[in-house]
Amino acid sequence: MLFKGLIDLLFPQVCMSCESALHTGEELLCTHCRFDIPACDWKDSKDNLITDKLKGRVRLTNADALLYFEKGNKTQKLIHQLKYKQQEQISRYLGLWHGENLKQKSWSQSFDVIIPVPIHARRRRQRGYNQVEGYAKALSQVLDCEYNDNILYRHHYSRTQVFKNRLARTDVIEHNFKLKTKKTFEGKHLVLVDDLITTGATAEACFIQLSKLKNVKLSLLTMAVAA
Ligand SMILES: [Zn+2]
Repeated sequence: MLFKGLIDLLFPQVCMSCESALHTGEELLCTHCRFDIPACDWKDSKDNLITDKLKGRVRLTNADALLYFEKGNKTQKLIHQLKYKQQEQISRYLGLWHGENLKQKSWSQSFDVIIPVPIHARRRRQRGYNQVEGYAKALSQVLDCEYNDNILYRHHYSRTQVFKNRLARTDVIEHNFKLKTKKTFEGKHLVLVDDLITTGATAEACFIQLSKLKNVKLSLLTMAVAA
């Protein structure tokens, strides 16, 4: 396409991880980064780094992450572009990628509802979008299940970093989430989705709310997990 060629010439697209120029047919990540970025590719959805991190805190039915996150690695650069550089399209890109992987696993067939971790309204206004939304919607599309961003609500803005120890931080974050709906979701398999799991405190706070619903199964999917 002549027009697209011209646009590329005027505004060259660069790889969201290494910033080298993208070739025709490459989208967001160059071919090298797409294969070189550290993918988790776990065999077990019940015993892995995420279930370990949340052990004794949340009873997870399944958990999976697409990428390993480490300071300075390709995943960190990609997530940084998504969260701080207005590159919202990375969210959907990762959702389609992760969704296609998960579709191959039999356990993903039991998912009922995909729930993005809510973002506070003020943060959403600053950023202009919830960085998890595109990912969550793409997952619901590929895995053919409901997307619902109306079950959990985040109600106050916190500067959680000031709390040094995990207990204090978890305590603060926990009070930031509320459950909006009740009956309709009882008995369902609910899948919380997030961008990055580090300590798991935010996910835990969301699960504390979701587990108030009767007979639900709880699972967690994330773009990345801190290695
Ligand atoms: Zn690259």
